[in-house]
Amino acid sequence: MDTYDVIVIGSATVGGTAAAALARLGLEVALVDRRAPPQQRTDAELDPRVVAVSPGSQRLLEAIGAWSALDPQRLAPYSAMQVRAGHGRLDFTANEHGLSRLGWIAELPELDRAAAAAAQAARRVETLWPRNVKALRTTQDRVEVELDDGRLLTGHILLGADGARSRVRAHAGIAVDSHHYNQKALVAHLVTARPNPGIAWQRFGALGPLALLPLPGGRSSLVWSVHLDQAERLMRLDDEDFAAEIETHAADAPFGKIAQSGPRHALTLVRRQSRQLAAGRVALLGDAARSVHPLAGQGLNLGLGDVAVLVEVIAGWKRDRDPSAILARYGRRRRSDSILVAGGIHGFNEIRALGEPGRQAMALGFGALARLRPARDIFVNRACGLAEVGPALQQLENGRE
Ligand SMILES: Cc1cc2nc3c(=O)[nH]c(=O)nc-3n(C[C@H](O)[C@H](O)[C@H](O)COP(=O)(O)OP(=O)(O)OC[C@H]3O[C@@H](n4cnc5c(N)ncnc54)[C@H](O)[C@@H]3O)c2cc1C
Repeated sequence: MDTYDVIVIGSATVGGTAAAALARLGLEVALVDRRAPPQQRTDAELDPRVVAVSPGSQRLLEAIGAWSALDPQRLAPYSAMQVRAGHGRLDFTANEHGLSRLGWIAELPELDRAAAAAAQAARRVETLWPRNVKALRTTQDRVEVELDDGRLLTGHILLGADGARSRVRAHAGIAVDSHHYNQKALVAHLVTARPNPGIAWQRFGALGPLALLPLPGGRSSLVWSVHLDQAERLMRLDDEDFAAEIETHAADAPFGKIAQSGPRHALTLVRRQSRQLAAGRVALLGDAARSVHPLAGQGLNLGLGDVAVLVEVIAGWKRDRDPSAILARYGRRRRSDSILVAGGIHGFNEIRALGEPGRQAMALGFGALARLRPARDIFVNRACGLAEVGPALQQLENGRE
């Protein structure tokens, strides 16, 4: 029987970061995944799955040593964000908020790899992949994870970072509310007549939110969330007609005509919110805790915000004490934050779906927000994830790993 302080199920970006961060606090961690992490990409092709990484998330990844494992050539910073709805415009620049950038666009598999590698490099983390979980048990005084190779892991705390269909969540008996958007996110990499200089551009248009995010080499990543029927239609178009559709719906984007459109992928969108983020010795992080619409680029950032808060509350835990109370504290803090952010994102999508009146209402809202400096500051602070990561960072940087 192998004994740990914390057992983490799921070693993608959120689970890998959690394991590496908790080890820096001096805890013994087991990190289990049914798959091995992705291999490092060395070819020029970028993975179609890219995500916006906030400065707060970047700092957390830096603190555990994952950020430096990313190839800078495969990252694209953005220092401007431009949002459009009807005639409404909302522009943010890093400069006006005293930041060097508003975030980075990075390949998700590369982030997964770097976080898992940071965990693997940590002395107090034992990585176990690829391993299937055969059984999970929680008792009054411990958690047990039985693996399919016969190994039995025991620990004080079980963390579920095992994604939207979390087995840990089901094991803990935590109910989840799901909402099918009846939308798919179409993603593709584009070459435009004018290179994208580092602008995250988005229009809440008639078919759905259409984002053009900067990629290395001046390319843009399209993330277009549309109704299932439209997704089917758009996926069937040839490259030329697809490019023409994007040009119609993003006519005021500052990048000109689309010269080339890469392979398209369509991802089903479901909103999920776990009713609790902690139960007894079990806590949920990342998509296991909630999954949100990609229109605000916040899913992974919320997950890394979970890690930051978890680190902060666990730092005060003594091994001989029942961790339920501190996990409950984590759960309360992150659930209210999740509901606020996920609810806001959901609300945007619902208002947009009301058609032209909805988009006009958004335009009015944009106008008001554009004039209210304190509200803009709050918005940028939250979007950049600067609130969560502050106190936790110090603890990680002082960590004993
Ligand atoms: C189109 C699209 C665009 C997005 N854009 C952004 C963006 O711009 N910014 C942003 O912040 N977020 C974005 N997101 C969301 C983001 O991708 C997710 O929130 C994030 O990747 C979730 O990470 P995770 O580590 O929680 O879960 P996952 O990546 O799902 O990882 C779960 C891990 O658990 C493992 N696992 C699962 N079950 C088991 C089991 N039973 N036993 C062992 N291991 C198990 C899996 O193998 C996997 O490694 C986007 C999402 C979509 C769909």
